[in-house]
Amino acid sequence: MKADFTRKLLKWNAVQNRRIMPWKGEKDPYKIWLSEIMLQQTRVEQGIGYYERFIKAFPTVFALAKAPEKQVYKMWEGLGYYSRCKNLIHTARTLVEEHGGKFPSAYEEILKLKGIGPYTAAAIASFAFNECRAVVDGNVLRVISRYFGVSTPIDDVAGKKIYHSLAGSLIDPDSPGTYNQAIMDFGATICKPRSPLCGQCVQSKECEAFRHGYIEDLPVKSKSLKKKARWFYYFLIEIGDGVYIRKRTGKDIWQNLHEFVCFETDGDAAHGPGDILKKMLKRQPFIVRSSSEVYTQQLTHQQVHGRFIRVTIPLPGGGPEEDGKLQGPGKPALANRKVATISKRHKNTATSGQASDRAAGERILSGNKNAGASGQLRDAVDSDRMLLEKKITKLLARADEHNAQGAIGYQLVKKNDLHEYAFPKLLHAYLKQVYPSPARDDI
Ligand code: SF4
Repeated sequence: MKADFTRKLLKWNAVQNRRIMPWKGEKDPYKIWLSEIMLQQTRVEQGIGYYERFIKAFPTVFALAKAPEKQVYKMWEGLGYYSRCKNLIHTARTLVEEHGGKFPSAYEEILKLKGIGPYTAAAIASFAFNECRAVVDGNVLRVISRYFGVSTPIDDVAGKKIYHSLAGSLIDPDSPGTYNQAIMDFGATICKPRSPLCGQCVQSKECEAFRHGYIEDLPVKSKSLKKKARWFYYFLIEIGDGVYIRKRTGKDIWQNLHEFVCFETDGDAAHGPGDILKKMLKRQPFIVRSSSEVYTQQLTHQQVHGRFIRVTIPLPGGGPEEDGKLQGPGKPALANRKVATISKRHKNTATSGQASDRAAGERILSGNKNAGASGQLRDAVDSDRMLLEKKITKLLARADEHNAQGAIGYQLVKKNDLHEYAFPKLLHAYLKQVYPSPARDDI
């Protein structure tokens, strides 16, 4: 039965398997490694684009090892599960520093590298070095469970033993790499999780689940993963052409990625965003421009929900058109008061002075204050803006002390430069709509 399975699988692979992937048949362990890491928790269709961009930017392990972390994270943006990216950088550096840039060729040695588990080590060892090691991923488990009619849960200790032993006994010792790729392709395209193509399957005559009609019941899982739900309010606090962001640094999800001013709550309705803003910004006036729908990102053990609230802090001396309602108490900024004083002076000039002075006065009075105002006014506005930025940064830092998000230090960055920072998938989805940029849309 086992020999039959392997023979038929290899024949199917040679004659009928049409699955095309850029890394198929690849012998370079570096490229195999990249593709396997990228495909963990990621659909092949999505992973292909990332793989091709990575190979172009970092064609060798040396290029990846010396690349700035910021650049690597940026290229990973949108792929999720960022610990993979962190381990990728770490292992690339280890390979260069301790192995002269070469991958070890034996399974056991490959397994010692950070971020490489039994599945990836078996893939690299068999594809690149022809070692007889069976890969065991979700596709392989499903095929084996159905073909042999094994109902032992795939995720408990006994099940793992059974499935690994069966997988090891099926592999073709003469072409382990080809066999491994074939069984993964077979699971992905024929013995699919839902609606498997049993009618076209070369294994159907011997397949236990098919013969006895319990395909849908296999494979069995002992426990379905319970995901913790988390709720984040993200405030996009804007001053002029800037918006506040910070880098996440704590022992939590999304380490080294950036985010906006963040507050975690117990649920979507637990606290109103307006109350959080008032508490955070104290007496500083602000305008709520919009509040988004709820965005959701699934992580392995968590389900993260996020709502985005776009907030503008009015600029001293007047800013761009504001379309929201001013909230929060506060006196007019210093520059506003100076504008009033200078405007008053120019009003007198405009009505009673000489023609040139009158023109200058009219320019200021017409509302084009920055263009027409004197250096004195511009300086006052600039210094007021700096004071305002400092004040908001301080308020945010103070508010952050009560926020166990594992991130520090908000900084004001230009909205046009946001594409240079790597954001989690959840934020990336919203960002693309609010601050579209050619650089970001490429991803
Ligand atoms: S017959 Fe159906 S269930 Fe059995 S191996 Fe083939 S596709 Fe999978």
